[in-house]
Amino acid sequence: MALISCPECAGVVSDKAPNCPHCGFIIEQQISAEEEVEIIRAEEKAEKDRKKEEAIKKAERKTTLFGLILLIISISVIIISMFAATR
Ligand SMILES: [Zn+2]
Repeated sequence: MALISCPECAGVVSDKAPNCPHCGFIIEQQISAEEEVEIIRAEEKAEKDRKKEEAIKKAERKTTLFGLILLIISISVIIISMFAATR
């Protein structure tokens, strides 16, 4: 349990209290819960985005490696065929 200040009268209110004991202002637990869900969603989205980015980076790395291998193979083939042609 934490103490928060009432947004209406700035009095000290328990965060579990449904309304302010000083002025009766209704502390909207609903909104804070929604905000919490929003924060969790944002965190999940950030995590997902991070994972997606990682996957893209990994795929890019694989593609680069594959391209490099292909390039080496084609260069080797060209060199070998050149040697074969001169012989
Ligand atoms: Zn109050």
